Amino acid sequence: MRVTLTGVVQGVGFRPHVYNLASLMGLKGYVLNSAGGLTIEVEGGSIEEFVQRLTSAPPPLAEIKEVGIEPLPPLGYHDFSIRESTDGGGLTIIPPDIATCPDCLREVSDPSDRRYRYPFTNCTNCGPRYTIARGIPYDRANTTMSAFRMCPDCEAEYHDPGNRRFHAQPNACPSCGPSLKLLIRGEVSAGDPLSGTIKLLKEGRIVAVKGIGGFHLACDALNEDSVKTLRERKRKSNKPFAIMCPDVETARGFCLMDEVEEEALLSPRRPIVLLDKGFISPIAPSVSPSNMRLGVMLPYSPLHFLLFEEGGFNALVMTSGNLSEEPIVIDNGTALQRLSGLADAFLLHDRDIFMRADDSVLMVAGGRPRLVRRARGYAPLPVSFHLDSGEVLSVGGELKNTFTLLKGKSAILSQHIGNMENDEALGFFEESLRNLKAIYRIEPKAVAHDLHPDYMTTIWAGRSGLKAYPVQHHHAHIASSMAENGLTGKVIGVSLDGMGLGPDGSVWGGEFMTADYGGFKRMGHFKCVPMPGGDMAVKEPWRMAVSYIYDAFGDDAFDIIKGLGVFRERDVEGILNMIKKGVNSPLTSSAGRLFDAVSSMLGLCQSITYEAEAAIALEGACQRPSGVYKPSSGDDRADNSYPLNISSYTPMVVDFSLTVIGIINDIKKCLPTDIISGRFHSTVAEAVGRTVERISGLTGLKRVVLSGGVFQNRLLLDLALDALNGRGLEVYSHEKVPTNDGGISLGQAASVSYRILSGEI
Ligand code: ZN
Ligand code: ZN
Ligand code: FE
Repeated sequence: MRVTLTGVVQGVGFRPHVYNLASLMGLKGYVLNSAGGLTIEVEGGSIEEFVQRLTSAPPPLAEIKEVGIEPLPPLGYHDFSIRESTDGGGLTIIPPDIATCPDCLREVSDPSDRRYRYPFTNCTNCGPRYTIARGIPYDRANTTMSAFRMCPDCEAEYHDPGNRRFHAQPNACPSCGPSLKLLIRGEVSAGDPLSGTIKLLKEGRIVAVKGIGGFHLACDALNEDSVKTLRERKRKSNKPFAIMCPDVETARGFCLMDEVEEEALLSPRRPIVLLDKGFISPIAPSVSPSNMRLGVMLPYSPLHFLLFEEGGFNALVMTSGNLSEEPIVIDNGTALQRLSGLADAFLLHDRDIFMRADDSVLMVAGGRPRLVRRARGYAPLPVSFHLDSGEVLSVGGELKNTFTLLKGKSAILSQHIGNMENDEALGFFEESLRNLKAIYRIEPKAVAHDLHPDYMTTIWAGRSGLKAYPVQHHHAHIASSMAENGLTGKVIGVSLDGMGLGPDGSVWGGEFMTADYGGFKRMGHFKCVPMPGGDMAVKEPWRMAVSYIYDAFGDDAFDIIKGLGVFRERDVEGILNMIKKGVNSPLTSSAGRLFDAVSSMLGLCQSITYEAEAAIALEGACQRPSGVYKPSSGDDRADNSYPLNISSYTPMVVDFSLTVIGIINDIKKCLPTDIISGRFHSTVAEAVGRTVERISGLTGLKRVVLSGGVFQNRLLLDLALDALNGRGLEVYSHEKVPTNDGGISLGQAASVSYRILSGEI
């Protein structure tokens, strides 16, 4: 019988697993890695039982997608063997990078083991994969480990099917593998690099540490002076730094954590998990200034474990080693050149990183883990996809960019690329695309892109030589969530978002639609208001506050604003004039801008230093010293929302001017900010519930799909899920794919693929 397995079946210890099982059952034949996955030929025993045992208990990191069984005439094999890889086309999957396993950790901390204190220890169950793979099949020769020749001991492990390191491609030890080097002011430090690094960190220094998917900038997260220095050097913004804690118990001393969050932290994929600070945290304030959350991760390489074990740190800042919005740095030369103004020292190693991958970021909302940045530990695992459309590329949007390649029934999402605003980001985009196309052997025939003509990605698509098709931004958001949830047919889509270009040329972002993959109909939207100063109104939320107050109060706006006393009056007059005359004031239905405006009215944030800062401050305002505001039943703030208007005609206009009047009245009454913010969140959720209910009544549709960056607001997502579930609707939201613009490439690809299949394009 020939058995073929597809999915994540290479680089996860599957061949020794097959070998051991076949030997145990006395079967003959062979197993090999093929470009399609894993091919096994077996004869001479109970083959059904073999297949059953093989597929019911695969190795821990394996994910079997399809099992093919084909009867063959017996050939009279003499034994069972592991054969050289062949290369025959099809879809092989390179596994993502996985955190160090307990067996390897035990060796690293055992003084009698030959891998004692060795920072590059790994085995078939753990270690780098995607970041070191240069091609398929996934063999040592096709990884950056090909530069290291295994010593006899490592070689013996590598060839012993009974060993945990049988065909572990990055297998290495202190005598044959990569090593560390500490550079201080350009000089190689003479002592032990690890101890030297620990000493520097304890002195409050900033060290650039080469990791799995790129460089981190590390410093003691409890030392405010160090963190402040890092913040001043790295960026003039309040964007939070992630921290790494040695274990869950220590992390619990810094933030609140429920079971789902704990499980996510401990997952071998080791994402950064966004946790509520919840109380006065001993973490240095400059780690995440004026932000209710802390991004926390646990160690995932032996180097991290050793830093904590020997340094005794409770928390280290581990932020991406890059200049503001540039891609994370991966090679030693670039690090020394570009990070020298940021770091006091460099902890380098000589195992090359081939593919860069930032740390992934995850949050828990509605009791479910949700990725908000999908990179290390997840990419390049495919997301299963139900259409089979041939090979399509989609290039995503402008911010938090990812791209997607479709092949067969798989969607391969790239790792997080970042904001497409500079040549470095474009270079990262192109190099990842080249690599994933090569690994998965995909030659796309068509490319999907955003409707916005000026996005770098749109321009790239136009010049790619492929047939290019635009997909509207919010339709792509909804299609992305549909694809992730395996939905077909028509749904009601709710896309609450920052901004995306609408087909009418205005800036959309608070959208209700009926949609399938092929297209959509706008059924409702947040009322359009002017954005005085265009892009300036995104950077300065107070401009949106003026706009919304003018929308609600008309000519009384100036006096109302004067009464609030949160903005400079002279500026307000200028902005009011711009709005009245319609000068440089494009209209927008963006939900993100409404959150910005309310945040500004409450005096929380008047100008932002990073995306969504004002909205994050508004959500954070619901936090009290006693804990985080959660919309539990019977809570007066959840029940008690502000009035709003929804027009009876279609597309329905969801008008928050009464909400704004209510907020201003509450501010005048000096109601606490957490209550006003809580009520506002409930109001938006109520607006979603009522609008969707009406659309459902008109169309008979019961399935509701949520997407868009604003749903990264956990409080809003929780409340919206309640509001929709409470109305008997079936609600779908993102988990595996980001709800923000990191997810739109999947929706673009799904839409174009569907239109190709239906013969529309
Ligand atoms: Zn291991
Ligand atoms: Zn060795
Ligand atoms: Fe968006």
